[in-house]
Amino acid sequence: MSVWHPMSGYDPQARRTVMVSGEGCWVTDDTGRRYLDAKSGLWCVNAGYGRDELADAARDQLRTLPYYPLTDSHLPAQRLAARLGEWLGEDYVFFFSNSGSEANEVAFKIARQYHQQCGEPYRQKIVSSYRAYHGQTPGALAATGQNQRKLGYEPLPAGFLHVAPPDPYRCHLCEGGCTLRCAGEVERVLRFELPETVAAVIAEPVISGGGVIVPPAGYLAAVAAICARSGALLIVDEAVCGFGRTGRRFGHQHSGIVPDIVTMAKAVANGYFPIAVTAVRREIHERFAATGQGRLRHINTFGGHPAACAVALRTMDIMDGEDLPARAAGNALARRLKPLLALPQVGEVRGLGLLAGVELVEDRVSRRPVAADVTRRVVAACRERGVIVGMNANTAAGLSNVVMAGPPLVAGEEELDLLATTLEEAIREVL
Ligand code: PMP
Repeated sequence: MSVWHPMSGYDPQARRTVMVSGEGCWVTDDTGRRYLDAKSGLWCVNAGYGRDELADAARDQLRTLPYYPLTDSHLPAQRLAARLGEWLGEDYVFFFSNSGSEANEVAFKIARQYHQQCGEPYRQKIVSSYRAYHGQTPGALAATGQNQRKLGYEPLPAGFLHVAPPDPYRCHLCEGGCTLRCAGEVERVLRFELPETVAAVIAEPVISGGGVIVPPAGYLAAVAAICARSGALLIVDEAVCGFGRTGRRFGHQHSGIVPDIVTMAKAVANGYFPIAVTAVRREIHERFAATGQGRLRHINTFGGHPAACAVALRTMDIMDGEDLPARAAGNALARRLKPLLALPQVGEVRGLGLLAGVELVEDRVSRRPVAADVTRRVVAACRERGVIVGMNANTAAGLSNVVMAGPPLVAGEEELDLLATTLEEAIREVL
C-alpha cells in the first residue's frame, strides 16, 4: 500500500517530501515546512497556488455538468476552444486530451493522416531534436531526444529521426558566429530521408526539460520555412513554454510563426486538472472527412473534461487580468541570475521569461559538464534551504548539468531574490 513514484524503484529507505498545501509560490509539507516552489510543480502552476477562483470554477462546473464526453460537445469545451483561438490569433481547431504525451501522439496521428488524405501516403516520419522531451507514450518517447529514457522499452515505433539541437552554448556546427546551421541540419535530414517521407517536424520553442536550451534567434522561423518548402507540418510543443512561461502567451509567438499544429499541456488549467490540447490549423482539419476512414481515429474518455475546461478558462482570465505573460517577460529570470556567472563553475545562465537554466561546468574554458551527481547535490542544497528547483537528465549525452528554475509567474521581488541567493549559496557549497 504505497505510491510508486515516477522515476523510482524499490527502496525501503525512500523518504519523499509529502506536500500538503500551497499558496502563491509556496508549498508546505506534512511537517509544516514551507518551500518556495521555483519549479511551479512541473511547470504547471503558472498562476500560482491557492487560487480560490479556480476552485470555484471547478465547483460550479461540477455542480452544473460534471462530465460529458466530447463525442458530443459541451459548453466549457466550446468556450475554451474559442478563447484559445483568440490567444493563438489564427484559425485553429482544438482536440482535447489528458497529457502532453497524448497531445503529441494526437499531433503525430493528425500529421500522418493529413498527408494520407492529401494523397501523400509515404509521409510517415517524424523529425525532432536530440535533448528535446516530448513525453512517455510510445510515439512521444520515440520523438524524445534523451535516449536513456528508452532503455529497455525498445523497440519503439519506427520512423522517428533526430537532428542536433539548436544549442548556442555547445554548438559544433557554426564557426565564427551563428549562421543557423542547426536549422540547415533539419533541411539536410529531410533531403536525405526524401522529403516526401516526412510527415512533420516537432520542436519546442525552448528545449525546456532538456536543459532550458534557447535556440538562436531565427531558428524556429527558419525551421518553419524549411517545413513549408518541403511539405512537412511543423508541430510546436508548448507543454512548458506555453501559458505565459516565456513572457508571451505561447513560446512560438516570439518568432512570429504560425505553426501547423500546437500542442499544450501542464499549465492549461494551472495544474488544477489534467488537460492537454492539440491545436490544428483549420485547413488541415478540413482535410478530415466527417465519416468513414477520413475521420480522425483517436478517442479518449476524459479529454476536455468540463471542469478542466472551466478551470482553464478561468486560468486564462487570470493570465490576461494580471498580465502574467508580460510580468514574466519583465522579470526575466535569466537576467536576474546573471550574477551567478561570477562563479567559475557557471558556464552559462540562459532562459526566456520565467524559465531559466544554469549550466554547471568544470571550468569555463573546457566547458566540460559537471557530473549528474554534482547537479543533483546543488538541487538538494537548494531544497535544504527551502527552495525547490529542478535539473535536466540527459545522461545519454553526459549533459545532466543544468539547474532549472521556473517559479509561478506571480513570483514577486522577494521570491525571485531568494531564488537567486539560494542558488548562489548552493553552488558555492557544492562546487
Ligand atoms: N512535452 C514537453 C515539452 C514536456 O516538458 C512534457 C512533460 N515534461 C511533455 C511533453 C509530456 O507531458 P505529460 O507529462 O503531461 O505527458
